Amino acid sequence: MRAHNITANGAIDMSSIIDGKAHAARLRERVGEAAAALAEKHGVTPGLTAVLVGDDPASEVYVRSKGKQTRAAGMASFERRLPAQTGEEDLLKLVGELNNDDAVDGILVQLPLPKQIRAERVINAINPQKDVDGFHIENAGALAVGADALLPCTPFGCILLLKEKIGDMSGMHAVVVGRSNIVGKPVAMLLLREHCTVTIAHSRTRDLPEVCRRADILIAAAGRAEMIKGDWIKPGAVVIDVGINRVGDKKLVGDVEFDAAMKNAAAVTPVPGGVGPMTIACLLRNTLVAACRRRGISVPESLRE
Ligand code: NDP
Repeated sequence: MRAHNITANGAIDMSSIIDGKAHAARLRERVGEAAAALAEKHGVTPGLTAVLVGDDPASEVYVRSKGKQTRAAGMASFERRLPAQTGEEDLLKLVGELNNDDAVDGILVQLPLPKQIRAERVINAINPQKDVDGFHIENAGALAVGADALLPCTPFGCILLLKEKIGDMSGMHAVVVGRSNIVGKPVAMLLLREHCTVTIAHSRTRDLPEVCRRADILIAAAGRAEMIKGDWIKPGAVVIDVGINRVGDKKLVGDVEFDAAMKNAAAVTPVPGGVGPMTIACLLRNTLVAACRRRGISVPESLRE
């Protein structure tokens, strides 16, 4: 019998690759339309400020890309740069300033922060209404109890991709590999909200291959290059690979062995070009939503969850 995603001539069936770039472009377009309507009807231009401490090259690339996409969506993009040796108090002072700045609807403190700064303390100093990364303890708590929250961008991006691919996920078994506060736990909460039966696996999980083989939906967020093998994937499963791992000098790979996974899965996100572009698109969406909520303006239908 032919493997699931292999065509008659032995090639991979491209329709089973989840094109995150295309989904993200459509979401950014909707954000752009909403931003234009907001400017026209209410005279409001949402503003996103990225705070960069130090000169980590990967963070530089992310911040530049976020700035470019923010402007392209018709919103204002600001950058605040601080030297690598900045102390925690100075960063907290800047966050306080941005909290009080009416032109700023979203504050993004680029992680990782230098060792002398406690990221948790800084994140929890951000006004939760401006916490467009969705990492503030108030937003994390709201997500956990099912109240209105700004949702963390990467987990939200995963759910949007799944909704487009699967539609109703109710009753499906979702396995999340990873339990971090920024990916694993929130994505598990969101899957629960979609009525999935959720298993969260981590580094102490026994017999991970067997746990993964029971997944209708598999979310890989361990940060381990190609750790998840093709034969860990249940035939017909949908696989979302959050991992970004650099191997060698340039090549980026996910947490899943992509080619092998494609032989079993119904659909897989590639790395790069899967979850990554959705993360930034969700950040823009959150900025627009934050700008509306702060002013008591109703969030456009096209950007609701
Ligand atoms: P963390 O390192 O904070 O968490 C990794 C999680 O994976 C931990 O819970 C850890 O378990 C678990 N884990 C590690 N090794 C194994 C293993 N061998 N078996 C089972 N579980 C394991 O990473 P993040 O959550 O921050 O990020 C995960 C990945 O997602 C990274 O590659 C990161 O680069 C990527 N990422 C991508 C984004 C995007 O936009 N696409 C955004 C954010 C992250 P334990 O808790 O027991 O230690």
